[in-house]
Formats: sequence, structure tokens, C-alpha cells
Amino acid sequence: MDTKKSVKRKKPSNKDLQDSNKGKKQLLKSLRRYARSAGYKLQPDKKLLDTLITGELNNIKKHGDRYCPCRRVSGNKEKDKNIICPCIFHKDEIKKQGFCHCRLFLKK
Ligand code: SF4
Repeated sequence: MDTKKSVKRKKPSNKDLQDSNKGKKQLLKSLRRYARSAGYKLQPDKKLLDTLITGELNNIKKHGDRYCPCRRVSGNKEKDKNIICPCIFHKDEIKKQGFCHCRLFLKK
């Protein structure tokens, strides 16, 4: 009999990330979990990683979602859905060049 329990982790909501002073840590944890599950690694340069995470948090505060820190948010919600991190482009970008546009996620 399998005694392992399936633990479903809750993705932090944008409100949690925005309201909490632990937002940066929570976002990092969430991105790390995604990278692990998708077979990628996170940007190893701590300074660049911090800049990218700060950019995403600023986008949550300014635009209400985890928009890409390296792309322009147009204000058109439908169009901007494509650039909520991880964006619709990252898999192809990582496949082709080894990293996403922002270099947040990299090939292992
Ligand atoms: S390019 Fe990278 S950091 Fe930007 S939204 Fe896509 S996955 Fe996230």
C-alpha cells in the first residue's frame, strides 16, 4: 500500500503576495516550485533574480497580476494574459535559447 500522501500546495494569491511583507519569499518559493516541476532552474545570479522578483511584485502592485518583469503591460487584460509569469512564450524560448526572455527560468 502506498503510504505517501499527496500534498497539494496552494499557489499564493496575488493579494497574499501584495499584502504580506513576506511576499518576496513567497513568490520566490512559488517560482522555484514551478521551475522544479517543469524541469527548469531559476536564475542563479542572486542579484538578477532579486531584480526580476521585485519587478514581478511591482507589477502585482501596479497592474494586479504577476506580469513579466521584462515586457510592457499594455493595459489590455486579454492580451496581457499572455505575459503573466510564467508566460506563454517561456517554453519555446527555453527550448530554443536555453532561457526565457527575462532569464528567470533556464534550462537545467
Ligand atoms: S519571460 Fe520569463 S520572467 Fe518573463 S513572464 Fe516569461 S517566464 Fe516569466
